[in-house]
Amino acid sequence: MEIEKILIDKLPATSSITTHKLKSLGINSYFDLLNYFPTRYEDYSIVSKINRIQVGEVVTIIGKIIEAKNQYTRSRITIQKIVISDDTGVVEVNWFNQPYLIRVFKIGEMVSVSGIVKQFGAKISIDPKEYEIIFDRSNDQKNLKHTGKIVPIYSEKRGLSTKTVRDKIFFILNSVVGDDPRVVPVGHDGPTLRDPLPPSIIKFNHLIDEDEAYKQIHFPDSLEMADKARERLAFDELFNLQLANNLVKKEWKKERVGNVFKVETRHALSLQDFIANLPFKLTSDQTKVIDEIISDLKKTTPMNRFLQGDVGSGKTIVATIACYLSYLNGYQSIFMAPTEILAQQHFQSISKLFERVGIKPTPTIKLITGSTKKLNSVETGHAPSLQKNQYDIIIGTHALLSKKTKFNKVGLVVIDEQHRFGVEQRALLKEKSLNPHILTMTATPIPRTVALTLYGELDLSYIEEMPAGRQIIKTFLVPKEKRTNGYEWIKKQIKENKSQVFIVCPLIEESENETMKSLKAVRSEFEKLKKIFSDVKTRHALSLLHGRMKSIEKNKVMDDFKNKKIDILVSTPVVEVGIDIPDATVMLIEGADRFGLAQLHQLRGRVGRSNRQSYCLLFTENTSEKTISRLKYFCKNNLGTKLAEFDLKNRGAGNIFGVEQHGFVNLKIANLGDFEMIEKTKKAVEYFMEKYDVKDWGELKIRLKKFETKQISKD
Ligand code: ADP
Ligand code: MG
Repeated sequence: MEIEKILIDKLPATSSITTHKLKSLGINSYFDLLNYFPTRYEDYSIVSKINRIQVGEVVTIIGKIIEAKNQYTRSRITIQKIVISDDTGVVEVNWFNQPYLIRVFKIGEMVSVSGIVKQFGAKISIDPKEYEIIFDRSNDQKNLKHTGKIVPIYSEKRGLSTKTVRDKIFFILNSVVGDDPRVVPVGHDGPTLRDPLPPSIIKFNHLIDEDEAYKQIHFPDSLEMADKARERLAFDELFNLQLANNLVKKEWKKERVGNVFKVETRHALSLQDFIANLPFKLTSDQTKVIDEIISDLKKTTPMNRFLQGDVGSGKTIVATIACYLSYLNGYQSIFMAPTEILAQQHFQSISKLFERVGIKPTPTIKLITGSTKKLNSVETGHAPSLQKNQYDIIIGTHALLSKKTKFNKVGLVVIDEQHRFGVEQRALLKEKSLNPHILTMTATPIPRTVALTLYGELDLSYIEEMPAGRQIIKTFLVPKEKRTNGYEWIKKQIKENKSQVFIVCPLIEESENETMKSLKAVRSEFEKLKKIFSDVKTRHALSLLHGRMKSIEKNKVMDDFKNKKIDILVSTPVVEVGIDIPDATVMLIEGADRFGLAQLHQLRGRVGRSNRQSYCLLFTENTSEKTISRLKYFCKNNLGTKLAEFDLKNRGAGNIFGVEQHGFVNLKIANLGDFEMIEKTKKAVEYFMEKYDVKDWGELKIRLKKFETKQISKD
């Protein structure tokens, strides 16, 4: 039976507690467990005769237990003194405070102990790291799992000990790829692990076989073999991810949009008119992307475009122009944002844009968020009706998709600040029998190579240049002792330059009641700041904003801030995405060390959105050299992609995308910073697509399943 189909409940001699712990880590099958990779190894491979051991060495000795007793000391420490003998001598092994060991070590049994050889006075003893009782009389070293070889160390999550994980993985490996029939007889129906890759790809890329890779990643013959194994498994992971994306893309190319766009001369003229009347001149990147979008919209296959542009680069207007074209064609557009605040803001700014440009007739725009009461009940009187599809642009949170809203004239869906547009969302639209054009946008800076890997099913567009006249945001790292100076400087900015200030409170590390803790932290910080800034009396000095506030309150605070009724907005990182307050010029980030650089960059991007000089102050209590150098790097660099690459190299992918952000494919072993491997696997995928049909590769198909469930971003 395929190893993917054997559930861990089938593991022999395994307590339900262990099974439960494994499941809580998402490990459900034998195969999942094989993919629980060690974080490092300990080398216990030097097996020595007792008379040969030398002080300072890490060795494994194998021998018979000839003595085992507890020794009590005057302090409360107990010593478990075990004496082991082999055919060359005897040696003492001492454990501390584990009296139960005396029951484990039975006189006369064989034992293998790995540890460091120590000298106490004239006596040599072993400071043990690992041990295992040898039940197997054959005394075959191959059957050792915790000693006598290079052993894997796993991260001990959910109280799962390395020893337990090692034990279970050893069992699975033996039952699948083991050649020792005594450990587990491989029957006719035993678990099977078939190499999913065509031999030609394995050969061309000098990869080791997959079963060998699984064996070597857990119990390597040498560290070089562990590297080889890692390479093979990382290859598979990146190959599978890209192949899955490619197959999705191929499927999508077969689809047809429900509502085909025309761009007739009169439409083109209206668009030109609209663009000419904007309060600013589009940057050439904006124009380029608009052209790419328009050429997509003219096609009968649905657009699946992913627009990446740094914070403040002006993505909203690009999407708005696409919505306008949809309107000119008589179709609706749905514009989704991840938060209510952002949806509200888009509603206001897009409405204003159309008013300002003075298009007649102006498209009708509707805002729908979670706090909009029952959808139907708001449709009264002579207002255009949602049900009758009379609104041209419908703006809201992702709730728009899950609501029982019926749309049938949708030509375009815009999804703002989304990091992964999933197959599932497409499916949701399809359930509503919609197959519109889709534009996804993000400011999360993802290096191009990485974006191509992660989002291979989408077409990518980039805005790389900022609107003219923008100034570089001056960023400073404020150490603990300069905190007061920092506050004084802000007061001066408010008084003398009428600056508006964001203060973002620290992110609370992931925990059970994360939101409540963050809330408490931000509230107490708010009280503290109120005192500090009590002498600022220009306007209503301080207001608080957090995700748990009612949306009516949130909107009021945002409006007041926008209308300059508030000097300082104290907030949780809810302002991270998308908020556009062009007049705010100072951003203070508390606990800056707790954010990834990409997130810091997002926060910094809340200022510097006009031609005024803006500032970003990073407060941190952390004095570790690594943190300081990371934050200093941030101070000196303004390019999102640069920062993302830095994070990718130094902290891993999780920090680009932010732990709290959904929808990111969690790579277990591949490193997205390894561009060479990305390139290699990309070529292999192209070769596969040309030469083979996935239908003929059953095992590969099973592996690809993992990528089918791409998540939906939640509000
Ligand atoms: P983001 O790409 O981060 O979503 P926005 O679309 O919110 O950025 O745009 C940021 C600000 O820049 C907005 O106030 C917008 O009106 C303004 N803006 C957009 N394009 C231009 C441009 N070409 N010239 C000047 N200002 C622009
Ligand atoms: Mg935006």
